[in-house]
Amino acid sequence: MKSADWQGDLQQIRHLRLFNNVAASNIGQLLKEFRACDLETDEVLLSPFNRNQYLYLLLEGQLHVHLGSLDSPPVSTLKAGDCAGEISFIDNEHPSAYVVASEPCCVLRLHRASLINLFQQSPEVMQNLLELLCDRVRQGNRIILDSEQTANIDALTGTYNRRWLENIFERESTRSAFNASPLCMLMLDVDHFKAYNDQHGHLAGDYALCMLAHTLRSQLRPKDSLTRFGGEEFVILLPEIGLDEARSIGERLRLSLHHIESFHSPIGVLPGITVSIGMAQIQAKESLQGLIARADSALYQAKQKGRDCLCG
Ligand code: GH3
Ligand code: MG
Ligand code: MG
Repeated sequence: MKSADWQGDLQQIRHLRLFNNVAASNIGQLLKEFRACDLETDEVLLSPFNRNQYLYLLLEGQLHVHLGSLDSPPVSTLKAGDCAGEISFIDNEHPSAYVVASEPCCVLRLHRASLINLFQQSPEVMQNLLELLCDRVRQGNRIILDSEQTANIDALTGTYNRRWLENIFERESTRSAFNASPLCMLMLDVDHFKAYNDQHGHLAGDYALCMLAHTLRSQLRPKDSLTRFGGEEFVILLPEIGLDEARSIGERLRLSLHHIESFHSPIGVLPGITVSIGMAQIQAKESLQGLIARADSALYQAKQKGRDCLCG
C-alpha cells in the first residue's frame, strides 16, 4: 500500500457514511487524523492472518470481501463511501474476512490510537460507526441463513439432501410418536440407470434425475419431504400416512414416471426412466437407520421382482 498524495477535499468525503450528519467544521478537524493510501488491483487490504489497527474509508474504487479463503466468491462488494476493517479496528483482533482491491482504490485510513479522539470530537461519528457495525451483523446473519438453507439442498435436483432428512426425521418421528399418527417412508431407485448413462450420456442422466425430482415434487404435499439420498436414490417421508395410503401414493408416483416415455431437455428429447420403490412404516422408537434399512430391503425385493414396481 502506497501513501497517496491527497489533499483533504471536504466535498469528496462528505458522502462517506462515517461522516453522515457530521458538521463540516468537525470533519475538517477529523481529517487531520487520516492518511490517504493507494491500492493496486488484487492487493489484500485486510487478512485474518494479520492483526488490523486501522479503519479504512473507501474514497475511490471497489473492494471485495471474502470469507474463509481468497478463492471463495466474494460475499459482498464495498464501494466508494463504504468502510472496511471497522470490527478489528474496534476490538483490536484479527479481521474476520479478507478484503481485497478488485480495482485500483484510494482509501483513507485511521489508526486505532485516534479512536478516542475521534469519538470525543464527534458523537455523530460514533453513532455512524455503530450503524455500520449493525449492518455487518445483519449481513453476517443473512449469510448464515443462506448457507444453512443451501446446505440442506441438493445442487442438481433442488430436492432436500441427506442432511435435511436427518433433521426432518427427528421432528416427524417425535410428532408421530406424540400424536400416535403413522409415518411412512418410500425409497426410490432409478432402474438400470447405469445403462441409461452409458447409452445417452451422463448429462442426459442428470436431466433425467431433474425430471424425476420435478415429477415427484409436483404430486406431493408441502409437508412430504422429498430428499435425494444418494446418486439415483430418493427418499420420501410421508407424515400422517399409513401403509395402505402410502402404497397408493407410491404407486401413483411410480406410474407417473412409467407413463413419461420421453421428455424435453436442454440437450434434446430424452427417453423417460422408471423407478423401483421400497416402502416401510415407522415402528415404535425406530431410528432413521432402522427405517431406512427396512425400506431398502423392500426396495431390494422390488428390484428382484423385475423393477418398475413397489414392495413393502
Ligand atoms: P438398478 O436397476 O439395479 O438400480 O441398476 P442401476 O444401473 O440403476 O444401478 P447401479 O447402482 O449399478 O448404477 C447406478 C448408476 O447411477 C451409476 C451412476 O453412474 C449413476 N449415477 C449416480 N448419480 C448420478 C448423477 O448424479 N448423475 C448421473 N447422470 N448418473 C448418476
Ligand atoms: Mg442405486
Ligand atoms: Mg438404480
